[in-house]
Amino acid sequence: MTAIAGTRLSELAKELKMTVAELVKALQDLGVSGTGPTALIDVDTANMVRGLLSRAGGADKVVEAPLDATVKDLANAMGIKPQDAQKKLVQMGQLVAVTQKLNRTLAEQLVASYGFTLKTKVDPKPAAPAAAPAHKHKAPGGAGQARQPVVTIMGHVDHGKTTLLDYIRKAHVVEGEFGGITQHIGAYQVEVEHAGEQRKITFLDTPGHAAFTEMRARGASVTDIVVLVVAAEDGIMPQTVEAINHAQAAGVPIIVAINKIDRPDARPDRIKQQLTEHNLVVEDYGGDIIAVPISAKTGEGVANLLEYILLVAEVQELKADFGGRASGAVIEARIEPGRGPVATVLVQSGTLHVGDSIVAGITFGRVRSMMNERGERLQKATPATPVEVQGLDAAPNAGDAFEVVKDDKEARVAAEKRSEKQRASRLTGSSRLTLDDLSRQAAEGRIKDLNVIVKGDVQGSVEAVLGQLQKLEENKKEDEVRLSVKMSGVGPIGEADVNFALATSAIVIGFNVRADAAAQRAAERGGVDIRLYNIIYDLVEDIDKAMKGMLTPIYEETALGKAEVRQTFRTPKGVVIAGCYVTEGKLLRSAQLRVRRGRDVLFTGAIDSLRHIKDDVKEMAQGFECGVTIQDYTDYQVGDILECFEMTQVART
Ligand code: GDP
Repeated sequence: MTAIAGTRLSELAKELKMTVAELVKALQDLGVSGTGPTALIDVDTANMVRGLLSRAGGADKVVEAPLDATVKDLANAMGIKPQDAQKKLVQMGQLVAVTQKLNRTLAEQLVASYGFTLKTKVDPKPAAPAAAPAHKHKAPGGAGQARQPVVTIMGHVDHGKTTLLDYIRKAHVVEGEFGGITQHIGAYQVEVEHAGEQRKITFLDTPGHAAFTEMRARGASVTDIVVLVVAAEDGIMPQTVEAINHAQAAGVPIIVAINKIDRPDARPDRIKQQLTEHNLVVEDYGGDIIAVPISAKTGEGVANLLEYILLVAEVQELKADFGGRASGAVIEARIEPGRGPVATVLVQSGTLHVGDSIVAGITFGRVRSMMNERGERLQKATPATPVEVQGLDAAPNAGDAFEVVKDDKEARVAAEKRSEKQRASRLTGSSRLTLDDLSRQAAEGRIKDLNVIVKGDVQGSVEAVLGQLQKLEENKKEDEVRLSVKMSGVGPIGEADVNFALATSAIVIGFNVRADAAAQRAAERGGVDIRLYNIIYDLVEDIDKAMKGMLTPIYEETALGKAEVRQTFRTPKGVVIAGCYVTEGKLLRSAQLRVRRGRDVLFTGAIDSLRHIKDDVKEMAQGFECGVTIQDYTDYQVGDILECFEMTQVART
């Protein structure tokens, strides 16, 4: 096991409820040479200091736990979160699962670090039936079996994403049929030793957030953990911020890899500082974001990074159903000369077998063969395992959903249905998301959020727009829709922005910028509304109107006129016409009528036809005779009064 040995001085100070300065002083008194707040203190020294200083702080509290207590048991006994205890153990140089039993010494050290002493608890009752512990491994609610995590690497260009992916692949992929030479299939798995066991991690092999959002835009969420690569000599750059936004919008946890620490100009502390400004507070600064210094070039720290990935995955308790028909997402696909369409898919549920009939996006076929990144042929693939599949009739798109169906016929029918649906939605434009649509949807009570992405020419203008939008949000009435800026950035609108908009159901607002050709194509394809402005006032007014338009509209009745029924006629087709005389105001063809008999209202409905002699007319004024029919009503009597009115939407005040 690779130990991440040592505790940072700042952590230890926090744990002992001392200031860093006090701890440095205490360490000097103990003869430990002076160190900075982020310096690592080796495990033994840290434990010694804990023992000496925590005891000096006051009487120990006692915690009772059985001899075979797990990390979770001990944490529960101390009233802390199991994950926190696990993190503490990591700081003490021990990587263990929360469900793992600790030996007595380690258990004592753990509880001591929280100022407790350990007392062995003897259970007076006979032990539970032997089968009992086995239930613990079952997921709550039977959600399936544990599976490996799927990781995407993101970050600014040139910060080392590809180098890191290459290093991990070379160092950790087990040798395959072709002597360890791996193929690029869009994803790969590695095996890492963790807590004394071999564990797997799946990496998506297309670095960058473009791929990540493209997948999300198509509704696929395959990533469990994002590794954010930040070059230690360069710091946080625009694409780093974008990557943070993307990961956070997807609700995927981030581990920061501070890369290029082999460079003499590397300044990892500065990165940690900068991260704080983007709400990623690293552990050194009291937050819970893990930041691992690495060099993708030399490999330094990469083992630690992998262990942290497994640790975060463990906390997530990732599970999947391994039984039943497989379903999942397409990672990438292409047509290869001689092989035809090949698609790398990631199984997310069930098990995929050679011979299965599948539908992927609008393509279909039968799994003729499956291959992993080592060129090995597989007969089956379980959840979180990426495999390259041959046998589809065409190349699906990255992010398309795939599923196994009963037989080839069903696959063909399902693909045709999907294709038909896609065509129909393109024709009706029903998938298009425009500001007007959003406004209408909100009016119908179908949405309550207006999501926007803001791009501007310079930081100053982006901030000005954000400031104005914030004002709109602050000044809105309680029942108006929420305005939510999903992302903002400097520069032209690119494809990634559009994909991001698609993934977050947002519209894109550009201020003094254009959308590049790829973005326009993506917007056209995905039906994303891009609105470009040069005048901030226009921009704010549109959004303001949309927010107001999104209110459920208020209608008021406006009386237009009255008519009296003087005669009724029945046409040969059975339609009953009311022959009327307009006594007040006017009748409007587009309006509604209320049929009144004395005090009773008999019916209210839209006017079906309005005629003067033989002509259809739009309106009929006071003093004229006309023939009227109302939709779904025929029961007129002479003397009935028809009241004409219309419903008009009134603006909120
Ligand atoms: P990407 O654009 O994020 O995929 O970045 P690359 O992986 O292509 O790396 C950009 C450059 O940085 C390349 O010249 C790499 O050799 C270099 N590089 C990447 N990682 C390290 C590192 O840890 N140390 C040093 N010194 N250079 C690195």
